[in-house]
Amino acid sequence: MARARIATAWLGGCSGCHMSVLDLDEALVELAPAIEIVYGPLVDAKEYPENVDVALIEGAVAAEEHQHLLKKIRQNTRVLVALGDCAVTSNVPGMRNLVGREPALKRAYFELTAAQPQIPGEVVTPLVKTVHPLHTEVPVDVFVPGCPPSPKRILYVLSELLAGRMPKLEGEMVKFG
Ligand code: SF4
Repeated sequence: MARARIATAWLGGCSGCHMSVLDLDEALVELAPAIEIVYGPLVDAKEYPENVDVALIEGAVAAEEHQHLLKKIRQNTRVLVALGDCAVTSNVPGMRNLVGREPALKRAYFELTAAQPQIPGEVVTPLVKTVHPLHTEVPVDVFVPGCPPSPKRILYVLSELLAGRMPKLEGEMVKFG
C-alpha cells in the first residue's frame, strides 16, 4: 500500500507544535512504514509538492509569505489540519493586533535595538496588517487545539486520518492552552 504523503508547515508560531510532533517518540517509528514526510522543517524540501494527503500547519497567518504558502498548501493537499492554538485562533502571535503592525515593527526594530535600526523589508517578508487564524484564509478540515497539542492528541488525529476516518475531537481533546 502506498504510504501517506504528510507535510508540515511552520507559519507564525514558536515551533512548539513541531516539537510536540517530535515528542511522539517511538510512535513515530511505528507510523514510519505508513507515512512519507514530503515537506516541512523536518525534511529538506524546497517547494511544496503536489498530491499531499495530510498537512499539519503550525502557526497563524502573520506575514504575506504565510498567505502564499497556505494557498499553495490548500491547492495541493487533501486534508489540511490547523495544528495548535495559533493556527486555530491566532493565539500568541495575534497579540500583535492589540498594538497594530506599525507600532510593533517600530518597537522591535527601532526602540529595542541600538545597532542599525531599520525595518528589514528586503530580506524579511512584509507582515500582514492583522494576524489571523488559518480558516479565515483557506478552508480547514481539522482543528487541533492546544499550545502545543499533546503528542497523544496529534497521534489520535494522524491515526484516524491514516485509517481513512475524519478525527472527532471532543472532551479533553478540544481543550485550548
Ligand atoms: Fe507555539 Fe503554542 Fe503557537 Fe504551537 S500553539 S506555535 S506551541 S505558541
